[in-house]
Amino acid sequence: MTTPDDPLHPALVADVTTVSPSLRRIRFEMPAGTGFTAAGQPDERVLIDFPGLDHRRSYTVRGWVPHRRLLDVDFAVHAGGAAAAWARSAAPGDAVRLSSATGWWRPPPGARELLLLADVSALPAAGRIVESLGPGTSVRVVAEIPDAGDRQEWDTHADIAVTWLTSPGLLPSTLVDLPGLDSVEYLWSCGETSTSRRIRAHLRRTLGWAPERYHVMGYWQADREGWLARYARVQDRIEAIAARELAAGRSADEVRDVIDDALSEADL
Ligand SMILES: Cc1cc2nc3c(=O)[nH]c(=O)nc-3n(C[C@H](O)[C@H](O)[C@H](O)COP(=O)(O)OP(=O)(O)OC[C@H]3O[C@@H](n4cnc5c(N)ncnc54)[C@H](O)[C@@H]3O)c2cc1C
Repeated sequence: MTTPDDPLHPALVADVTTVSPSLRRIRFEMPAGTGFTAAGQPDERVLIDFPGLDHRRSYTVRGWVPHRRLLDVDFAVHAGGAAAAWARSAAPGDAVRLSSATGWWRPPPGARELLLLADVSALPAAGRIVESLGPGTSVRVVAEIPDAGDRQEWDTHADIAVTWLTSPGLLPSTLVDLPGLDSVEYLWSCGETSTSRRIRAHLRRTLGWAPERYHVMGYWQADREGWLARYARVQDRIEAIAARELAAGRSADEVRDVIDDALSEADL
C-alpha cells in the first residue's frame, strides 16, 4: 500500500538560482501526467528522496505552477548537510523523487493578528504564508538569518512588520519580550528543534495558550549526529513513556509535553 509520504513522483532540476547568501532556489519540473498533488496550505512540504542519500528530507513547496508542473524549493545551503551539499551543486537534469505535500497552517477562521517566527530553513514557508494573506490581516514576522543579506521582501495584501535577527539563538527571548503578544490570534513558529521546544513551552506552559492558537514545529536538529547518539541511549524509555501516555488516553499535546520533559531531562 502506498502513502502520501512515499516519494512516488519523479522530478528533474530545471533551473537553479540564488535567492540570497544562504538560500538557493531549485525549480523542479515534473513529467506530463504526474500524479503530484499540492496540499494547498502555504507551509506544505514534500519529502525529497535524493540519489544516494540514506533518508528523505522535508522541504517546503515555495511555489507550484500546476499547468507547467513546476515546483520551487528554497534550500538553505548550511554546512555539514548532505541535502544542502546536493543543493549547492545541483544542475539542470539532476533527478530526485518527491512525495505528495502536507501542510499545517490552520489559523482559526477570521484570525487577523498573526505572528510568524522562523529561522532560515522556515523562511520559505514564512514567505509563502505572508504572500497568501489577504487585506485586513496584520502579520508580524520575526526571522533569524545567518547573513544580513538573507533579508527578503514579500508581496502581500496584509499589513506586515518584519524583524530580522542576525545573531543566532534569539528567537525564544525575542518572543518572551515581544510587546502585544496577547492580541496575537495565531502564532506559527518553525526552525531548529530545541529552539522550537522552548518556544512551545513558553506558549503552552508559561502563557497557557490553547493548542489551536499556535503551530510550533522543529524543522532540523543542531548537531544531529550527536543528538541521535544521545537519543539512542534513552529511546526505549521515551517510547515506553509515549506508549503509556497514549494508552492512558492523553491528547497529542499532553503526550508531547511528557516527551518534551523526558527529552529535556536527557539533555536532548
Ligand atoms: C516541514 C519541514 C519543512 C522544511 N522546509 C525546508 C525548506 O524549505 N528549506 C530548507 O532549507 N530546509 C527545510 N527544512 C529543514 C530540512 O529538512 C533540514 O534542514 C534537513 O535536515 C537538511 O538535510 P541535510 O542533509 O542538509 O542535513 P542533515 O543530514 O539533516 O544534517 C547534517 C548536519 O547539518 C545540520 N543542519 C541541518 N539542517 C540545518 C539548517 N537548516 N541549518 C543549519 N544546520 C543544519 C545538522 O545539525 C547536522 O549536524 C524543512 C523541514 C521540515 C520538517
